[in-house]
Amino acid sequence: MEISQKTDVNILRRTTFSPRVKNAQIQLICGPMFSGKTTHLLNAVNEYRAAGQKVFVFKPKLDDRYAEEAVVSHDKKEVEAYPVSKSMEILDYYMNADVIAVDEVQFFDEKITEVCEKMANDGKTVVIAGLDMDYLGQPFGAIPQLMVVADEVKKLNSVCAFCSGRARFSHRVSEDNGVVVLGEKDKYVPLCRSCYNELNT
Ligand code: ADP
Ligand code: MG
Ligand code: ZN
Repeated sequence: MEISQKTDVNILRRTTFSPRVKNAQIQLICGPMFSGKTTHLLNAVNEYRAAGQKVFVFKPKLDDRYAEEAVVSHDKKEVEAYPVSKSMEILDYYMNADVIAVDEVQFFDEKITEVCEKMANDGKTVVIAGLDMDYLGQPFGAIPQLMVVADEVKKLNSVCAFCSGRARFSHRVSEDNGVVVLGEKDKYVPLCRSCYNELNT
């Protein structure tokens, strides 16, 4: 009781209480390959733009499966995006934006968490999308930290390539080793938990 009274007194003594920023949020969209993460991100970008917000879109430079300077979904929808090689580079551009969208966020260095927090602390809406697990089922890049700092986490499912169940895993069908191997259906298929376990035991 003593502690809460003390806290209350401190709050009441503040003569003004006006939050400096409104609606600042980090929204994380994650899931396996082909679960609609990029589609979801692009829809959010278009909705914010339709509402008159200034939206900047970023993607990691290593992901050049489609256009160099665009984020493209598997359904071939796209928006223009700045490719950046280090997460800190985003801080050189974000100030004039209301909303910052980042795709393939799992490929960024660990500073991406700090970068997202800084932008949200400055009043920006930050929408980020990425794979939550690598092909071994391990957390991908800075995703665990981003899940902690995010205000909202949306986990999407894909359709299992074997049984059409709800897929949570991205199974690598090629022989390549290494966590980062870029590719499409030639390299990865989405699998549900039981089909993934069946193939990995
Ligand atoms: P992500 O960014 O999560 O990889 P995209 O948003 O680029 O996904 O694309 C999702 C689209 O991929 C779906 O709308 C669907 O048309 C297509 N797709 C292809 N194969 C599958 C699958 N096995 N399960 C679900 N969607 C698939
Ligand atoms: Mg995608
Ligand atoms: Zn399955």
